[in-house]
Amino acid sequence: MPAKIIDGSKIAKSILEEIKHKVKNMKQKPGLALVMVGSNPASEVYVNFKEKDSKEAGFYCERYNLKEDISEMDLLKLVTELNQKPEIHGVLVQLPLPKHLDEKLVTNSILPQKDVDGFTPLSLGRLLCEDTIMAPATARAAINLIESTGIKIEGKNAVVVGRSNIVGKPTALMLLEKNATVTVCHSKTKNMAEFTKKADILVVAAGRPNLITKEMVKEGAVVIDVGINRVGGKLVGDVDFEKVKEVAGFITPVPGGVGPMTRAMLMENTLKAMELSKKFSK
Ligand code: NAD
Repeated sequence: MPAKIIDGSKIAKSILEEIKHKVKNMKQKPGLALVMVGSNPASEVYVNFKEKDSKEAGFYCERYNLKEDISEMDLLKLVTELNQKPEIHGVLVQLPLPKHLDEKLVTNSILPQKDVDGFTPLSLGRLLCEDTIMAPATARAAINLIESTGIKIEGKNAVVVGRSNIVGKPTALMLLEKNATVTVCHSKTKNMAEFTKKADILVVAAGRPNLITKEMVKEGAVVIDVGINRVGGKLVGDVDFEKVKEVAGFITPVPGGVGPMTRAMLMENTLKAMELSKKFSK
C-alpha cells in the first residue's frame, strides 16, 4: 500500500488559524523583527513568507533590509536596539550572512528570550538539558509532523540524516527527549543504508537531492523530508519521493511538507516569546 502523504500545508494552515484567533483577542500583539542583509534570492523568499505569515497572524512586524556591505558594528547595534524594544518579542536575522559578518557573533547577540529561531548557544544548550525555552522551528516542525501521524515516538528507532546545529542535531535531541532510540548519520557515515533501513522514523536534512532511495527505507516507516533543493527549476527534497512512497507508511512531500510547518512553528515561537517577555520583565 502506498504511503499516506503528510499534508504539512494543511496542518500548518490550521495552526496559523489558531494563532490568528488567539492574537485577535490580544490587546498587545506579538512583535517580530525580520532582519535581512543583502539580496540573497532564497533568503528574500523566506523573509517575504515570514513577513506575510506574521502580518496574516495579526502580529506587529518590522522588516529591515540592510545593505550587503553593512559593518558588523552597525548590524550588532541594530540587534541591540531590537533587543531593547518592548514591542518586539522576537528577533530573527536571516542566514546566511555575507562573508564579512560573523554569523555566530551576530546570532549570539540576540537575547535568548527573543531568539525565535532558537539558534543561540543558550537556546540550544537548554534544549540539550531538557529545559527548553525556544527550540528551532524546523526541528519542531519535524516532530509535529511525525506526531500528526498518530505514531508514538517512544521506543522507536529514529534515524536523522544531517547533523547541523539548526536542523539535524536539535531534531535528534527532541526525538531522544521523546524516548526514541536515535542514530545520527552524516556525510562521513559509512554504509548509511544499514542505519536507515532500521528506522521506524527517518528524518532527512542533508540538502542532497535523491539521497534516500526506496532500498534504504524500512517498510511502513515515517519519512520526514526536510531537504530543499532546486533541480531544473523545481523544488525537491532529499528523498526519492515517488519511489519511497511505495514502501513508507507516511511521507512528507516537498514542497508542502516541512517548509510550511516550519513557518507555522516560527509564528508559535514568536507567540511564546511574547509570553516569555512578561516573565523576563518581572
Ligand atoms: P547543512 O548543510 O548545515 O547540513 C547538512 C548536513 O547533512 C551535514 O551535517 C552533513 O554532514 C549532512 N550530509 C551532507 N551530505 C550528506 C550525505 N551525502 N550523506 C549523509 N549526510 C550528508 O544544512 P541544514 O541547514 O541542516 O539544511 C539541510 C537541508 O534542509 C537543506 O536542504 C536545507 O535547505 C533544508 N532546510 C529546510 C528547512 C525547511 O523549512 N524545510 C529549514 C532549514 C533547512
